[in-house]
Amino acid sequence: MARKFVVGGNWKMNGDKKQINEIIGFLKSGPLNQDTEVVVGVPAIYLELVRTCVPASIGVAAQNCYKVPKGAFTGEISPAMIKDVGADWVILGHSERRQIFGESDELIAEKVCHALESGLKVIACIGETLEEREAGKTEEVVFRQTKAIAAKVNDWSNVVIAYEPVWAIGTGKTATPQQAQDVHKALRQWICENIDAKVGNSIRIQYGGSVTAANCKELASQPDIDGFLVGGASLKPEFVNIVNAKQ
Ligand code: PGA
Repeated sequence: MARKFVVGGNWKMNGDKKQINEIIGFLKSGPLNQDTEVVVGVPAIYLELVRTCVPASIGVAAQNCYKVPKGAFTGEISPAMIKDVGADWVILGHSERRQIFGESDELIAEKVCHALESGLKVIACIGETLEEREAGKTEEVVFRQTKAIAAKVNDWSNVVIAYEPVWAIGTGKTATPQQAQDVHKALRQWICENIDAKVGNSIRIQYGGSVTAANCKELASQPDIDGFLVGGASLKPEFVNIVNAKQ
């Protein structure tokens, strides 16, 4: 089954109106490969601004949300609110949410479930730390993180998984194409065996962690890498080259 290449930009807590204007400028000039799905992950406060300014073909994602529609949860936003301002995606389970803000596998799974039920598409992030990799636990960790989501989610058609080894995020240390491919392949197989073969073959698995214009083509040529989640480079014009990595 053909899996459409999908590239997300994760701006994190970066950008102001001036910089966002510049980013929108290079997204509009592109040219962006029409065969690649593009999503930008925007600080919540700018979601509506970005939705009204970027071309309609580009998806707009929040970078987090809570697990219920509304209520006394000071500081949180709900999937319903994200939809209300016109955005259609949310990034959940990013390692910065897991590590800095202490989000557990279970909370992330609840968020993924509620976001999907609310009609959002989800980029669900998983990945091992350096310590876990060095202890030979990479597969154990990514399977555990995926299993937690599988315990709550039945319909995976609106889910993209982002495999982001924590040691590669923002460090300039990209996983080699082979390292990334090995994890993607093992994860796909695990999904086929433990969730559903159809889901395993159709789900898109992005790689994230120090993706740049210089390394994206080789990564994109791996059979089980179906796109990227890009942090630092998504703020720069080279993001266009990353979107076009398959060309
Ligand atoms: P990076 O971040 O590309 O800056 O390494 C990736 C991410 O955190 O999604």
